[in-house]
Amino acid sequence: MEVQSLGGVGEVTGSRHLVRSGRARVLLDCGMHQGGDTVSRLRREALRVKPQRLDAVVLSHAHLDHSGALPLLVNRGFRGPIWCTPATRNLLAIMLDDAANLYFRDLEQVNLRRRRAGEKPWEPEYEQADVLAVLEQCQVLDYHRETEIADGLHLNFLDAGHILGSAIVELHERRGGPSRTLVFSGDLGKSDSVLMRDPEVPARADLVLMESTYGNRDHRSLTDTVEELAGILDQARRERGNLIMPAFAVGRTQELLFHLGCLYHAGRLKNWQVFLDSPMAIEVTALYSQWLDALDEEDQRLLAHYRARTLEQFLPPLRLCATVEESMQINRIDQGAIVIAGSGMCNGGRVRHHLKHRLWQERNHIVFSGFQAAGTLGRQLVEGAERVRMFGHQFAVRAQIHTLGGFSAHAGQSQLLAWAGAIDGGPHFRLVHGEETALAVLREALVEKGIAAEVAVRDERVQC
Ligand SMILES: [Zn+2]
Ligand SMILES: [Zn+2]
Repeated sequence: MEVQSLGGVGEVTGSRHLVRSGRARVLLDCGMHQGGDTVSRLRREALRVKPQRLDAVVLSHAHLDHSGALPLLVNRGFRGPIWCTPATRNLLAIMLDDAANLYFRDLEQVNLRRRRAGEKPWEPEYEQADVLAVLEQCQVLDYHRETEIADGLHLNFLDAGHILGSAIVELHERRGGPSRTLVFSGDLGKSDSVLMRDPEVPARADLVLMESTYGNRDHRSLTDTVEELAGILDQARRERGNLIMPAFAVGRTQELLFHLGCLYHAGRLKNWQVFLDSPMAIEVTALYSQWLDALDEEDQRLLAHYRARTLEQFLPPLRLCATVEESMQINRIDQGAIVIAGSGMCNGGRVRHHLKHRLWQERNHIVFSGFQAAGTLGRQLVEGAERVRMFGHQFAVRAQIHTLGGFSAHAGQSQLLAWAGAIDGGPHFRLVHGEETALAVLREALVEKGIAAEVAVRDERVQC
């Protein structure tokens, strides 16, 4: 068996690895690169693999940096199965549809400008029909149900505990002789996070492709982070203010709702109204509620204790704002509103409207709970900008800006090291899905523990 990393090398986006075994060819993940606008990004996105030559795709989880290029792959002729867990397929339907809508809307605007400038409009890189085809080609497989997916290649999923449906991929090559095992970690969840179970550990492996997002550091503890959030709420109540929480629709939002639910039941959310102002996050939250059985047992028991059959019921002051009218009504509330709205980095979505209304008042608090990429409005705010530009106007930043460090959906360094050390068979590690420093520091830490590890090199073929 041989692995070639085509993307997700020296970077956290664009995850894509090609496995060759005999005549079988399997692609692990088919992610999009992020950064820049959707339209030019898709024009730049090269698949770097012949779709017709692939026997199958195996998808670790639904995040777009792992799944976003699937419509492109299908558009270019891939007709084989896309293996994923049942919950990943459900999530994928929501995420690919949302991404496609944004893409078609942006492309229309770009083409309007191009036509006005007397230039030829750009053809779409994929169509809505390709998104539907991706979902039809999905072949679902539960955790721990090993199955043969190509000649001599057997697939097994383990729970990665990162987002709903996320999987660690085990590929076993069984073809006479001793079997060989390739493990692809996908994105590994944080062991003390809420809702998600702890990442499972594969029994043995010969080669492991391991994510390294936080390879260079540990996160702040979850308890400290929740206390910090409670402290911000107390301060905001004294100041008669509001909280704006820019949040990612998948995973982070559901965890925040759960934490707010815990604060509510502890009597620490008195007189607050919580608004979930994002149609996509509302849809994803409903999906999490449908899949409660697959989530952390302790958290399931807590929900049951408060007779909550869904995440939404666990937080009684929660109001879901699906329509634009409902979203605009939040502006009439003078104090005591917690508004959770996308996008997580404030580079689009409804959160910008709430910032427009609240950013210039000192009594309001903007609470970030995720990574803010360079070039985004979120990054400017986190870095202490005094004025920002939105909707063609300048806004003074008077509201208080906070960053909560402990709500990550990724394992920190100590946890990655423990996970790697627990796999039998003396596997070699190839480090992927991380930025330069994280990769280098994690490699050194692994080698120090006597574990063979290299930073993956793009396109290099590695034997398993
Ligand atoms: Zn992910
Ligand atoms: Zn990822």
